[in-house]
Amino acid sequence: QIDEAEVVAFSVPSYACLRRTTLDNHNPVLTDALSLLAENAELSDEDGRGVAFRRAAAVLKALPEPVTGVTQLRGLPCLGGHSLRVIRDILENGASSEVEFTKQSERFKALKVLTDIFGVGAKTAERWIRDGIHSLHQLQESGQTLNRAQQAGLEHYDDLKQPVTKAEADAIGEIVEEAVVSVLPGAQITLIGGFRRGKLTGHDVDFLITHPEEGREVGLMPKVVSWLESQGFLLYQKTTRNSYLEAKDGPARPASNMDRFERCFSIFKLVTDEGPKPASGHRRWRAVRVDLVVSPISQFAFALLGWTGSKLFERELRRWAGHEKAMSLSSHALYDNKQGRYLKATSEEEIFTYLGLEYIPPSERNA
Ligand code: ATP
Ligand code: MN
Ligand code: MN
Repeated sequence: QIDEAEVVAFSVPSYACLRRTTLDNHNPVLTDALSLLAENAELSDEDGRGVAFRRAAAVLKALPEPVTGVTQLRGLPCLGGHSLRVIRDILENGASSEVEFTKQSERFKALKVLTDIFGVGAKTAERWIRDGIHSLHQLQESGQTLNRAQQAGLEHYDDLKQPVTKAEADAIGEIVEEAVVSVLPGAQITLIGGFRRGKLTGHDVDFLITHPEEGREVGLMPKVVSWLESQGFLLYQKTTRNSYLEAKDGPARPASNMDRFERCFSIFKLVTDEGPKPASGHRRWRAVRVDLVVSPISQFAFALLGWTGSKLFERELRRWAGHEKAMSLSSHALYDNKQGRYLKATSEEEIFTYLGLEYIPPSERNA
C-alpha cells in the first residue's frame, strides 16, 4: 500500500534543451525499453514514432530518482499513451510484452544485424530482407553487390561492434592531432560527439578541426587524409567536400539542417599493442570508426554545438530556436528571422544566450 502523499511527483520542462541530463540515468530499464521501440520505429521508416519514443525516454533520463509507480508520471511532458502503456507494463509486470515481442521478432533482429554493418541504412536492409537475407552469412552468400563502404563495414564487422573506449579515443586523438599539425601548423582539433559529453564508450570517435585564421582551413581535409593514409592509419575513408559556400552563392539560403562541412567518414586502424609480435592468427590492431569535420573559425562555435549532441538534444535546440524564438539554428549559423540577420558567436555560451537559454554544459546534454 503506497500512501499518495509519499509518492514523489516529478516536474520536467518539455524541451530537452531546458533540462540538465547527465549520464547518471536512474531509470535504465524503462529508457532501454523505450529506446528499443524508438530504434525499431526508425528502422521501419516511422520517424515520427521514433522521435516520440526518444522524447519519452529522454524525459525519464532527466528524473532525479527511479520511477516506482505510474502516478508519479502525472503531468510529465512527452509521455504519450503508447509510452505510458510500455512504462506501466514494466512497472507492474516486470516487462513490456511489446518490447519483448519486438526484440524476438525476426524482422527486428535482421534489421539490427544488417544496419549494424557500416554503410548499410534502413532502406538497404529492408530491400535485402525482402530478398530473404536475414544474416551476415546469407548476405555473403547472396552475391548482392556491396559498395566500398559496405565491403569495409562487413570486413570489420566484429571490431566495429565493439564499443570504443575513452583511452582508444584519446590514442586516436593524438594521431589525428599529429596529422593535422603536420599538414597545417596552428590548426586545432577538438573531441566532439559522445566523448565530449563525458561518455566512457562510443560507437565511433568524432573530431572537429579548425584554424584560428579564417580561410586557412580550406583544403585541409584531403591533406590530413593523405597524411593518415601514407602512415597506414586508414582502412577506409570517404571525404565529402564543403558545399556551404556554393550554396550561399545561390539565390536561396540553405533551407535544411543538413550540414555542409568538409568531412571524412573513416575506419581507423588502431594499434592496440606495441609488444612483441603476437602468435600467428592474432593481430595487434583493431578497426575503429572515426568521423572528422573541418570548420572555418567563424562557424566553429556552431559546429561545436551541433556536433556535440546528443542527437535528441540537437533536435530540441533547433525546435526551441524555431518555435519559441523564430530563429534557425544549424551547425553553421544562427539566423534571426525577425531581424533578418545572422547572429555571430565565438562560443557555445553566446549561442545559448541568443536563444534565451541557460547554458547547458556538454556533460548535461545527454538527453
Ligand atoms: P556515439 O557514442 O554512439 O558515437 P554520438 O553522440 O557521438 O554517440 P554520433 O552519431 O557520432 O553520436 O554523432 C555525434 C554528433 O554529430 C551528433 O550530435 C549528431 O547530431 C552529429 N551528426 C552526426 N552525423 C551527422 C551528419 N551526417 N550531419 C550532421 N550532423 C551529424
Ligand atoms: Mn560519436
Ligand atoms: Mn559520428
